[in-house]
Amino acid sequence: MRQLPLNCSHEHEAQRAKLNQKRDRENAMTPMRMTYRTVFKVYQSKNRAPYLFQSRSYSQSQCQSRPEPERSSFGIAFDIDGVILRGRVPVGGSPRALRKLYGTSGTLKAPFLFLTNGGGIPESRRAAELTELLGVNILPSQVVQGHTPFKSLLRRYENELIIALGKGEPALVMSDYGFKKVLSLDEYASYFKNIDPVSQYKLWRTKQALDCSHPKESVPRYDVYSDRVSAAFVVSDPVDWGRDIQVLCDILRSGGFPGQENGHQPPLYFAADDLEYQAAFPSERLGMGAFRIALESIFNTIHHDALEYVSFGKPNPFVFKNTEAILTQLQPSHCHNDTTNTGNSQSHAFKTLYMIGDNPSVDVKGAQQAGHPWFSILTRTGVFKGKDNHAEFPADLVVDTVEEAVDYILKREGTS
Ligand SMILES: [Mg+2]
Repeated sequence: MRQLPLNCSHEHEAQRAKLNQKRDRENAMTPMRMTYRTVFKVYQSKNRAPYLFQSRSYSQSQCQSRPEPERSSFGIAFDIDGVILRGRVPVGGSPRALRKLYGTSGTLKAPFLFLTNGGGIPESRRAAELTELLGVNILPSQVVQGHTPFKSLLRRYENELIIALGKGEPALVMSDYGFKKVLSLDEYASYFKNIDPVSQYKLWRTKQALDCSHPKESVPRYDVYSDRVSAAFVVSDPVDWGRDIQVLCDILRSGGFPGQENGHQPPLYFAADDLEYQAAFPSERLGMGAFRIALESIFNTIHHDALEYVSFGKPNPFVFKNTEAILTQLQPSHCHNDTTNTGNSQSHAFKTLYMIGDNPSVDVKGAQQAGHPWFSILTRTGVFKGKDNHAEFPADLVVDTVEEAVDYILKREGTS
């Protein structure tokens, strides 16, 4: 690189450059200080999608010299299917509704997250998908899927052979949570010749299934013939109900060794229990709850003991308690106890938590069972299409769309 001689004018230029650099640094500090006050800050990206910035990098000394960040007295949990999306298409003005949660300066008005019984992909990937579809940057911590609570079972099954089934990538979801010996039901079944007696008729099989369809050529990653299946997890909506019911019955009634004599049933976990849900088709589709009924009915007919299982997902009160804790963590961080406030939600309790859903028996029932501070809002863009309120599980408010719901909340909270 060629070096220029430093004459008088160059010295002036150098001094001016130094001053400009100093001013730039000072200007750069100003928005940083502002973000401290609000913690959640929105930056505009190329497609003008607000970027959620969670400020956790301020030092203790900086925190002590600043006023405490403001905390919202309310939070929002959005259901996805039938409220935000139908299939992959936004409904009810959902992108606009989410943008209304940000002020003109890009400040987030209240913490929000997505609480869905759906799943089949890791939360990080779901967050990226929602970001793309809705034009608002969504963090993985803002996505609570039906199978998210399976994380709480890690200590029990971390090194045990477990089976994961459902659409998407159920085994990847479980591995992502830390489970070390997990096989998809697709892969597991492929190691047992003739376990599915009608497999040769399934011309619709996907590439993923075909990759696992040569048991003689592939070597099992684990010793599936002598390793007992410790538990089965229905992570997302099953794809091949007939094969899945057959293989689950084999695993569950044999005590974890398909093809062998009866044994004690390994635990069975469902990510949700929705009988129906609203997808892209005009009428509702059969959900995981319908699959559970089919499996339970068949298992109880062919086995002497009734099927034992645990269902997570809404309306389980555990899910709403967990959601409240996550929304508390999404609140502006408190400098003095930033790392400890998550365990003490009492001192920062929300006055109201809104559950916006389309399914009375899942979203509204769940919020009702959870009690204070939950407030249920039912939309008409999904499962519920009634004119008035639902008879069995009446919501606190019924609106047409999620945008109307957000308008109502912001007006009620005085932040519109
Ligand atoms: Mg729904």
